[in-house]
Amino acid sequence: MSRTKIMATLGPASSDRETLAGLIRRGVRLFRLNFSHDDASGFAPLVERLRRLEGEMDAPLTLMQDISGPKLRTRDTGRDLIEVGLRDEVLLGLPETDPGPDVPFLCLDQPEILAGLAVGDAVALSDGMVRFTVARREGEGLVRLRAETEGIIPPRKGVALPGKRLPISAITDKDRRDLAEAAGMVDCVALSYVQGPEDVAEARNILRREGSNAPVLAKLERSEAVRRLEEVVEAADGIMVARGDLGLECRFSKLPAMQKRIIRACNHVCKPVIVATHMLLSMVEGPMPSRAEVTDVANAVLDGADCLMLSEETAIGRSPVQAVEAMREIADEAEGYFFESGTADGADYADDPLDSVLASSARRLAETGDAHALVAHTMSGATARLISATRPSRPIHALTPDDGVRRFLQFSWGVLPRLVEDDGASHLDRAEAFIETEESIPSGARVVLTAGQPKPGMASGPTNVVKIYQK
Ligand code: PGA
Ligand code: MN
Repeated sequence: MSRTKIMATLGPASSDRETLAGLIRRGVRLFRLNFSHDDASGFAPLVERLRRLEGEMDAPLTLMQDISGPKLRTRDTGRDLIEVGLRDEVLLGLPETDPGPDVPFLCLDQPEILAGLAVGDAVALSDGMVRFTVARREGEGLVRLRAETEGIIPPRKGVALPGKRLPISAITDKDRRDLAEAAGMVDCVALSYVQGPEDVAEARNILRREGSNAPVLAKLERSEAVRRLEEVVEAADGIMVARGDLGLECRFSKLPAMQKRIIRACNHVCKPVIVATHMLLSMVEGPMPSRAEVTDVANAVLDGADCLMLSEETAIGRSPVQAVEAMREIADEAEGYFFESGTADGADYADDPLDSVLASSARRLAETGDAHALVAHTMSGATARLISATRPSRPIHALTPDDGVRRFLQFSWGVLPRLVEDDGASHLDRAEAFIETEESIPSGARVVLTAGQPKPGMASGPTNVVKIYQK
């Protein structure tokens, strides 16, 4: 089982019980519910099915609600396709500025966006296939675009404004409703089109009002968010490199370096990072990935991704289970190469630098002492993430009494989260009791464990013990 985690997006191809069970059997513990396509009541039967399987298969699942965010789309004006040639001019404006059927016109129902467009701004239509620049402002809600490429624009196509900071929140009215309605149903939330830390704070406020403190992941798909990378990473609990929309926002040639920069920033602060979109796209229709896809998945692992995501491959593909198997196999091979070529230095970040040293010491003890596993007792999940960031070749059993912490730890590379009862025993005793009863750890095996040993009279304390334990 690879250490790199795999997340499957659910859709019509993967919502039946048998396929879900197949995905879980192949180790998938992370599922994405894409709220661009449905709402909480629509997802309710699927969530119920997943929760039932979770109990039956004894496999704790982490369900991520991916809210749709302010995806800009042209409105249908009732006209056919618009064909543009190089340097052709097209108007872009509010519905009330429609000049009539004889003039090429794209309708955008978003006054604040139109008001913010300036001469020279880039506008990409049709998933980036047709690119324009703003040639002139014609009035309050109307601008004249000049085509920089030729192409065809069908109605209701996505509009991207590469590099532009938009005067809108990443959370729409539908998102607010979705967040409120699904708060009791999901384990974490991913925000689309985040521009800055304030979007993450807004989502947390909405969730808090619903009594939820679910972790919030930011999808990096706006160049503004990449510009403010450190702030966004600081604000969020995890990050998704959302290459689909990010590739519309910037020149495609910039994506690989951006992916590496984003992953490095997340690794540095021990926050889980997901690489997403087009990872095994050929497998939507075919039985085998392209060589370029195989290499891309492997390179994402080598870049330091905690988690790889499947999108259409599992949502609408011909065989979601095969796609997961292929991804797993590629990740396994990449990890083999990773260990052969030297491991990560680990995070040089922690709130307390001693914690980083503690985590890397645990890893070195485990590798040098040929330990079977690492066991980390963790209240917040932080110690397990610090150890994960050192990329040990041994499994990391993370013991926590907090169910939410356990579920979020599913994202972290190499971490096997376990729920332990808060029974009043010391964390060290709990960790040792776990080792004694854990079937995957053979008798006589060496284990490196970390725990908090509180001062006498105190209930718990920060991680301050690294111990070699022989079962
Ligand atoms: P999406 O996000 O699949 O919700 O669009 C991922 C991406 O843009 O890559
Ligand atoms: Mn997207």
